Amino acid sequence: MIQKPKGTLDILPDETPLWQMIEENVRDITSNYGFAEIKFPTFEDSALFKRGVGGTTDIVQKEMFTLGDRDGNELCLRPEGTACVVRSVIENGLFNEPMPLKLYYFTNFFRYEKPQAGRSREFYQFGVEMFGTSKASADATVISIADTLFKRLGVNARLNINSIGCPNCRPNYHKALVDYFSAHEEELCDTCRERLKTNPLRILDCKSPICGALCDNAPKTVEHLCPECEEHFDELKSSLTAMDIDFSINPRIVRGLDYYTRTVFEFISDDIGAQSTVCGGGRYDGLVKELDGPDLCGIGFGLGITRLVLALKKNAETKGTALPENKKPLIYIAPMGKEAATKAVGIVHKLRTAGVAAECDITGRSLKAQMKYADKIGAKYAAVIGDNELEQGVCELKNLRDGEKKNIAIDELSTIKD
Ligand code: ATP
Ligand code: MG
Repeated sequence: MIQKPKGTLDILPDETPLWQMIEENVRDITSNYGFAEIKFPTFEDSALFKRGVGGTTDIVQKEMFTLGDRDGNELCLRPEGTACVVRSVIENGLFNEPMPLKLYYFTNFFRYEKPQAGRSREFYQFGVEMFGTSKASADATVISIADTLFKRLGVNARLNINSIGCPNCRPNYHKALVDYFSAHEEELCDTCRERLKTNPLRILDCKSPICGALCDNAPKTVEHLCPECEEHFDELKSSLTAMDIDFSINPRIVRGLDYYTRTVFEFISDDIGAQSTVCGGGRYDGLVKELDGPDLCGIGFGLGITRLVLALKKNAETKGTALPENKKPLIYIAPMGKEAATKAVGIVHKLRTAGVAAECDITGRSLKAQMKYADKIGAKYAAVIGDNELEQGVCELKNLRDGEKKNIAIDELSTIKD
């Protein structure tokens, strides 16, 4: 039997209502914030991510699904959204729109990773990107979108923020970091020993306990900020406080790329195991220019839907609350006999076009089996229609919850309320 590729997920019909509920909330919240949806290709030129995400990141070094086309071009399945959005903004001249430009996406991404709970090779993200304002209130606004979603869905997610400075203060910090870790080089894991040469900031992101312990005493970015970055970070904190959004400062959050600047943040959920980051984002004031666009600043985040689903399921389990379900039919039309069966198809069609969730037998089941089925699919009423009933234009309507029966004109079935 052919099975789905390793690390991919089937999202089955009993779970899709939860996904739809999340998506509806995302669309509602983003529209209140004035963000418009952007869609971009499933695959892009690999160079976009090499430059847009960075050659020393895990994504580029080991996680890209690369494909060649027949013309010898190197393409890859999109591993993340920011670089795609930035490319599209540049290519389509969206930088000429009134600023700030506010975009969001809700789509799937692909990374060649070791699959585990909360980490798959195809996963979904809701992401927002805001361009054209460098104000800390813009950063707080972007953060508040994720916060609003979590609060609306009842998910406990702790916000951690940090500032990684700008090209003015970064070199000083960089030096302090290299000095510190060089003194502990022997203790670092192999990857971090390499990072010490290529991208020392990424050491702070290492998940190994030994590197983690070293990081606890490492110099902190927030202690090496230039006055402008310090003011920006202070404004971010005041804006979040003005919005009643709780946060902690976590000096280990970094994005690790030259064109990420100042604000970086994560939302962590304690309910979903080791892969606990449900949302990560930051400011990328150098990225648009790096990708050959104008000097346009930006801030955004990616929020993992797969991890959000885990959190919501866990929540429902602990609180004993129900998860969203597929819509159940209001009326099941149960015909008896051949003539009634044909008429039933017409009746059910009329009901559906009138906006009523209705079903009828299209399998040729016996009446008894039909009633059993109607019950199983959770129909509220069953309308039994035989040849006699058809002649008189009436049917017997049975409430399947309490067993109560009454006769009703077939034409009036569409007036029945839930
Ligand atoms: P992690 O440290 O968990 O690998 P990341 O830094 O690679 O995360 P981002 O690129 O910032 O993640 O993506 C934003 C969010 O997308 C993550 O916080 C997470 O919720 C989700 N995400 C990232 N990779 C995966 C994956 N392989 N499977 C499921 N969700 C993912
Ligand atoms: Mg990752």
